Amino acid sequence: MVPTDPAQRFDTGAIWLDLLATVGSAYGPDPVDRMDSVELLRRWLQHEDLSPLATPGPDDVVRAHELRELLRPLGLAAAAGHAPDPAHVEALNAVLAHDTPIQLTADLRAAPPATAADALTRIARQAAEHLCGPAAARLRTCDDHDCAMLYDDVTGRRRWCSAAICGVRHRVRAHRSRLAGGSETPPPHRVRPEQNPGGRAGR
Ligand SMILES: [Zn+2]
Repeated sequence: MVPTDPAQRFDTGAIWLDLLATVGSAYGPDPVDRMDSVELLRRWLQHEDLSPLATPGPDDVVRAHELRELLRPLGLAAAAGHAPDPAHVEALNAVLAHDTPIQLTADLRAAPPATAADALTRIARQAAEHLCGPAAARLRTCDDHDCAMLYDDVTGRRRWCSAAICGVRHRVRAHRSRLAGGSETPPPHRVRPEQNPGGRAGR
């Protein structure tokens, strides 16, 4: 296990989507950047098995943020079924122009990228292939509006980025709103245990 920010998300189904998810609550009033330092970028790349040979520097954090915010609208457009902004496509093409073919090690692993910039270009290539292929149709955003995390919905049934986070938050909100709506009284088909001592508690 590579130690990393415990709030960091690696469950989107693709590295480029994990990159977008390095901003928490990205679409709410208080976004949280979880990759805003060289050390956090270094650990994030390590966790994604993309540790570069050269140590990342502050410019790489800027590059990572630029790529992240370039890929975000492209991913959101694809998830919504909209055509992308041509300017974003052009900008992604400019990043891809720096791509270099990966080399393989003897045990069939991708050789490490030389620099963090190379690692980011690989991520851009992965995003481009994802967005141009059939898997683009599986891109979804989390149903929690503030979260709206993009993920690859492999099963076609995923509603939340995480059932344990946004799914639970939704249930808590729904419960509170039911209470606020004055529906604390159990529905009529329910039998309160205290009204039915010793009997069946109802269904
Ligand atoms: Zn979510």
